[in-house]
Amino acid sequence: MTKHVRVAVIGGGIVGCAVLYGLAKRGWTDVTLLERRQLTSGSTWHAAGNTTYFGPYAAMTRLFTASIRTYLAAELETNHSVGFHQTGSLRLATSMDELLAYEALIPMYRELGIPYNILTPTEVKAAHPLLEIGDLTGVAHTPTDGHVDPSGATYAMAKAARQLGATVQTETSAEKIEQSPNGWKITTTKGVVIAESIVLAASFCTRELALQLGLNLPLYALQHHEVITGTVAGLVDIGRELPTVRDPAAPANIRQEHDGFLCGVYEQGPKFWATDGIPKDFKEELLSPELDRLLPELERVIERIPAFGESGIKTVNNGPICYTPDGCPLLGPIDGHKGLWLASGFTVGIGTGGGAGGFLAHWIMENEPEYDLPVVHPARFNAKLSKEKALAMIKSTYERGYSIN
Ligand SMILES: Cc1cc2nc3c(=O)[nH]c(=O)nc-3n(C[C@H](O)[C@H](O)[C@H](O)COP(=O)(O)OP(=O)(O)OC[C@H]3O[C@@H](n4cnc5c(N)ncnc54)[C@H](O)[C@@H]3O)c2cc1C
Repeated sequence: MTKHVRVAVIGGGIVGCAVLYGLAKRGWTDVTLLERRQLTSGSTWHAAGNTTYFGPYAAMTRLFTASIRTYLAAELETNHSVGFHQTGSLRLATSMDELLAYEALIPMYRELGIPYNILTPTEVKAAHPLLEIGDLTGVAHTPTDGHVDPSGATYAMAKAARQLGATVQTETSAEKIEQSPNGWKITTTKGVVIAESIVLAASFCTRELALQLGLNLPLYALQHHEVITGTVAGLVDIGRELPTVRDPAAPANIRQEHDGFLCGVYEQGPKFWATDGIPKDFKEELLSPELDRLLPELERVIERIPAFGESGIKTVNNGPICYTPDGCPLLGPIDGHKGLWLASGFTVGIGTGGGAGGFLAHWIMENEPEYDLPVVHPARFNAKLSKEKALAMIKSTYERGYSIN
C-alpha cells in the first residue's frame, strides 16, 4: 500500500511530535509521523525534562519560551498531562563577567514579556535555602520556567495532532528515502509513503538517513549522565519545590525530584557513543553508568549544595544524547534538496522542542521562517567537515556546559 501525504515526519521523539503538532495546528492535517518503535523511544523517555527560559544562546530564547507554551496548549486540547512544575530557575554567576552577561539580557526578556531578574546572593538564599552563596556575584532568575514530563509532553502533542487529523504510525521504520518524480519516497517496514516534504527528526539516527542522500551531517551521540539522590531531609523540611539550579562552575544542573535531587552532569572528557553507526538492534536502552567519571563534577555540586551529598546516590542514568559541533540543532531546509527538512541534533530538546516544532512548521508552510534564526540553519556547517573535527568541536562544546564564553 502506498500512502500519499503532504508532509512525513520521521522520528517520534518530542521534536518530531512537536513538528507534527505545529503543522496540524496551523492547518496542514494531511501529515503523518513515522516512528520505528514507540513514541519517546529515543532520548526523550529518559530526559530530566528541564525546560528553562535561559538558553545557551540568547537567539534561541524564543524557542525555549514557546516550548512550555506549546506543551501547555497541547495539554489543554487533549487533557493529557504534561506534568509542568513551575519551579523557576537560577543561573549562578561567580565572576563579574558572568553577572554582566546576565544583566545584558534584561532588555531581551522585557521585550519577550518573560519575567527575568537578577538576584543578589542574599536574595537567592531565600529562594534556595540549601545553596552555598559565599562565592556568588549574583544569580539570573527566571521564575516562570521549570520542568515537564517529557513523555507526557510528547504524547500530548501527538494526541493533539491526531485530534486535528494528522496520523501517527508507530512500529514503522523509515528504511530508505529517495527523491522520486512524485515527491519524496520513503520505504518503510510497513509500505511506501510518498510525501511532498519530509522532516528528518530522528536525532542521532538522522545522520545515517541523510547519508543515503550523500549528505554529511555533523550529528553524533555523546553519553550524558544524570544522578538521582535518595530522600534529603532538608528538602522535606522546606515544604515547597525548590527552583532548578544551573551552576557553570560545576558544570551541572540540579533540581528537586520528589524528596531528593536530580543532577545532570557535564563531565570533562565525555565519552562518545556509536560514532561509526547506531547499532541496528538499539532499542530504548540506557548505557552502562560510569559514576567514577563524574566524581570531580559531583564534588563541586556538593560544595554548592552540601545537602546533595547527605543521603547517597539512588540512581545513575547514562543515556545517548545527540550533539552538533556548536550545540545548536539543525533546524530548517537542506539547500539543494527541495522538500527536505531537518529537525535533529537537539541537546536540549525538551527545553526547545515544542517551540522548534512550531518554528519549523511555519517555515515549511510559508517557505520562510517566522523570524531570523541563523544559529539553527543546517547550512552553517561545511559539508566536508570531517568526523574527527566534528567530534573535537562537540567535546569542547559539551565540556563548556553553561559557560558564557
Ligand atoms: C540523561 C539525559 C538527560 C536529559 N535531560 C534533558 C533535560 O532535562 N532537558 C532537555 O531539554 N533535554 C534533556 N536531554 C536531551 C533530550 O533527551 C533530547 O534533546 C531530546 O529527547 C531529543 O528529542 P528528539 O525528538 O530530537 O530525539 P529522540 O527522542 O531520540 O527521538 C528520535 C526518534 O526517532 C526514531 N527513529 C530513529 N530512526 C528512525 C527511522 N529510521 N524511522 C522511524 N523512526 C526513527 C527513534 O526511535 C526515536 O524515537 C537529556 C538527555 C539525556 C541523555
